[in-house]
Amino acid sequence: MGKATDFRYNTGATRVPWAAVGENYNAHDLMEIIRFLMQGEGPEYEAAINAVWEQVEKLDKLSTPPGKLTTATQVEAAEEACNAYLGTDSSTFVTNATSGFEIAYKYANLKAGDEVIVPAITFVATMAYPLAIGAKLVFADVDPKTINMDPADVARKITPKTKMIVPVHIGGYPVDLDPIMELARKHDILVLEDAAHAFGAMYKGRKIGTIGDFAAFSFHEVKNVTSFGEGGIATTNIPGFAPEMKRARFLGMDFSAPIKNWLYNITPIPGKEHPFVAANYSTTEIQGLGLKLQVARNEEIIEARRRAAEYLTNRLSVNDAIIPQDLGNEDIKPTFHLYLLQIDPEKAGGDVQTLKKKLEEKGVTNIPHFGPLYRFKVVSDMGYDPDEIAKTCPVCEEVFYKRFTHLPIYGLSEEQLEYMADAILESVAEMQAGK
Ligand SMILES: *Cc1c(COP(=O)(O)O)cnc(C)c1O
Repeated sequence: MGKATDFRYNTGATRVPWAAVGENYNAHDLMEIIRFLMQGEGPEYEAAINAVWEQVEKLDKLSTPPGKLTTATQVEAAEEACNAYLGTDSSTFVTNATSGFEIAYKYANLKAGDEVIVPAITFVATMAYPLAIGAKLVFADVDPKTINMDPADVARKITPKTKMIVPVHIGGYPVDLDPIMELARKHDILVLEDAAHAFGAMYKGRKIGTIGDFAAFSFHEVKNVTSFGEGGIATTNIPGFAPEMKRARFLGMDFSAPIKNWLYNITPIPGKEHPFVAANYSTTEIQGLGLKLQVARNEEIIEARRRAAEYLTNRLSVNDAIIPQDLGNEDIKPTFHLYLLQIDPEKAGGDVQTLKKKLEEKGVTNIPHFGPLYRFKVVSDMGYDPDEIAKTCPVCEEVFYKRFTHLPIYGLSEEQLEYMADAILESVAEMQAGK
């Protein structure tokens, strides 16, 4: 019998085995997967595919399929790789960062009326669960330098109802966590790090995602590393909660004390005030394998991104209307997921909307992640007043409408990087000349 980690067993050698999986993937399926992951056309490509096809057919006769397709040795190996990389023992591979956040929110026993402080600028995933259950979102203003949550504004917005603070390391640039952790400890508030962009970032010698009470990294296809398009790692510092987080990932399965005549028990997951019911955020073995392989090269990925950021920052520093991405220091080591480009509208003779238009005309893609959350319809339809909230987030309003955009930074050739730097410098010079 296989290891009891979920209800589908690999029964191994026996007269009548209970297959661990349903229909397996065959040689034809595998070829389609290879074609999908390595696309191409033309006679040379087709010849290479045919050569692989022949060998895969041979392999099909010589090989056995994996005993399990979900949550087994590959997922564990990915978690171990993340544990070693992050210096934690709690890595839990889940469907995506959003589900990692849900486990933390459920642990906090978040309910309608409780308050959660989130930054005004982030991706909707940060606030989806609190919004869905009717908890009150309180939007913290951002630090104009980093566009991350401003700890001073968090301090102003804490009330007796504040249950969680959710710092988001935007673009992989670490939030100033010390003052946030201090506030949280003082007021008995849980901290959930949205580390979606920050796998491998460092804050004062510690890995981001290991400092708050909970954190989740994203391995969605647009992030620095991926697990076949979707995936997340959740971590926790709550004493004793790491094994519970694994059960929180899979419906609360408890194999340690099965009920009579059955294989397992289903038990609730301990929460801060009372236990909660688990959901299903399990991932596949293929995703586990995919993550393990990319984690192994994450340092190289960050280094390549850092070099590109350094190039842009050096080039852009010649015009003092441009505020280039901060490259970090001994205490702050970003992942350079996005390149944060800012301008000083007064010195530039115009705001970032003009710059964005000029860059687009020159063929430079710029992705202004992220809009102020309180501008979305789903927020106003839940009873929030965007204009009132905007008054409490003046820096967010200023930087979003006038000062920042994000630039692509990975997988670009030297020529493309050079062209992008030239285009930015030219565009700002045009603005300064009133063109
Ligand atoms: C991508 C992203 C998420 C969500 O990640 P998923 O893995 O897709 O759930 C959360 N927060 C931020 C800031 C993100 O960019």
